[in-house]
Amino acid sequence: MSQTHVCPHCNQELTPWLGPPESGWGEILVCNNNECPYFKGSPSTIRNTDEASPLGCRYALDPANDYTPFSLVAWHGACRD
Ligand SMILES: [Zn+2]
Repeated sequence: MSQTHVCPHCNQELTPWLGPPESGWGEILVCNNNECPYFKGSPSTIRNTDEASPLGCRYALDPANDYTPFSLVAWHGACRD
């Protein structure tokens, strides 16, 4: 089970990441590449908040769910509670 998973958008190897306890995700695999086109392009697709909110989406896989891809909403730059 040492399969390598890469991001289909930038071909970077996905990094294991432990989600926040409240998310219930456990360990997921995330593309941490800040140059990833998926990540860089995401701010234009989620504009449900004000422009100052640096929301972005990272490509992620959920190993607990048959490696189903999903968008991990990331806060880069700002801290929010
Ligand atoms: Zn990527």
